[in-house]
Amino acid sequence: MADIDAFVKAEAESLVAELSRWCAIPSISTDPSHADDVRRSAEHLAGLMEAAGLHAEVIPVEGGQPAVYAEWLGAGPEAPTITVYGHHDVQPVDPLEQWTSPPFEPAVRDGCLHARGASDDKGQVHFQVSAIRHLLAADGSLPVNVKFFVEGEEEAGSPNVEAFLADHAERLACDVVLVSDTGMHSPEVPSMVTSMRGLMYFQVDLRTATADLHSGTFGGTVPNAVEALVRLLSGLKDGAGRIAIPGWYDDVLDLTDEERRQFAALPFDPEELKRDAAGVRVLPGEEGWSPLERIGGRPAADVNGIWGGYTGVGSKTIIPAEAHAKVSFRLVADQEPAKLEPLFEQWVRDGAPEGGEVVIQSFGKVRPCLTPLDHPGNRAAARAVARAFGAEPLFTREGGSGPERALSDALGVSCVYVGVMLPSDRTHAPDERLHLSHYYRGVRAAAYAYEEFARPGVVDALRALRG
Ligand SMILES: [Zn+2]
Repeated sequence: MADIDAFVKAEAESLVAELSRWCAIPSISTDPSHADDVRRSAEHLAGLMEAAGLHAEVIPVEGGQPAVYAEWLGAGPEAPTITVYGHHDVQPVDPLEQWTSPPFEPAVRDGCLHARGASDDKGQVHFQVSAIRHLLAADGSLPVNVKFFVEGEEEAGSPNVEAFLADHAERLACDVVLVSDTGMHSPEVPSMVTSMRGLMYFQVDLRTATADLHSGTFGGTVPNAVEALVRLLSGLKDGAGRIAIPGWYDDVLDLTDEERRQFAALPFDPEELKRDAAGVRVLPGEEGWSPLERIGGRPAADVNGIWGGYTGVGSKTIIPAEAHAKVSFRLVADQEPAKLEPLFEQWVRDGAPEGGEVVIQSFGKVRPCLTPLDHPGNRAAARAVARAFGAEPLFTREGGSGPERALSDALGVSCVYVGVMLPSDRTHAPDERLHLSHYYRGVRAAAYAYEEFARPGVVDALRALRG
């Protein structure tokens, strides 16, 4: 295979220049005033892909932002087909005054490319495209068939991804999805994500009367909506930090001994985590699991906001008639939102005060996604990462949620995650940056991954799992 090392060394500067031109397009998907920029970003990427030797196409998304599809299918039907997933939209940039250089004027400092989207996720899509460009130029072919699905609204929560996948499943059909939108735990030790958590989000409205009441006239003899809601939510977790809703853990797959061994081998400094967590002084959570295990591998519940009663200046002696809260849950394999939603609703109704009226609204559900460590896709990708980083990667889990399970369900295959983002890349924050040494390793890891997926036996093992 072509010498990817030599390519990266020779092209180091031009690769960054090319990525910078793409990062200069402010493709903020959550801001309607940037819709034109998101479209331009999609067209720009399609141009880069065409120049790399892929057939690329911008696909409009009804009521949403355009995606980019690309393919190179010259390896033939016997060879594995990989669908690379990433996104070309970016987060908003506020607060602007905290950026050292403007977010859409990419600048290299301290070995990093600083720009919104440099790390999340344009840099990670670009290292894949760059690897393909080199392999096609040098060898005239790739060892695998490659397709790309690069979304334009991931940062907006991928609202149309399921409909898109339903429409384009045949086109995106593959043996494995290669997700290029995750990171490594530390710059010193390479690692690979094996799962994404699921998500459920609710608003709970509790009403105990048709209007607020005088606390002198009625105090001591009527229900108080705020007190009742606080009482209810204070029971969300038990004293051991476990979610106290009956049945919540029934389908949780515990981390395997091997996963726990790998979590324990990751470099971890609790003080650094506290600093990253905006200066918290303690790291409370479910007993029996380490902080890193809890972030990726265990369910979580959070009260995101609570309001009700009188909160203005001075005093107002009322008994509130209504109270409201936002509550979210992170789920792990094999928890199913469809099964847990009624458990939560029942728990709220059981804990609401007698005579109280409860309304529960649901704001979307994401299923969790897990690819076991010994999955042939993970094994092949781990060999590629080891070659690119010079050390065996450890397997870890991502605490966040994304469209990976939707991809995996729609295409009937597993997701494998090769990402080079670092915790210090300040994604979603001012001064987002991409560590160029990691980016260059990403180019190598992508090239090696195509090679490793093409090794004898891998495609058969992947196809056997599809059944
Ligand atoms: Zn991302």
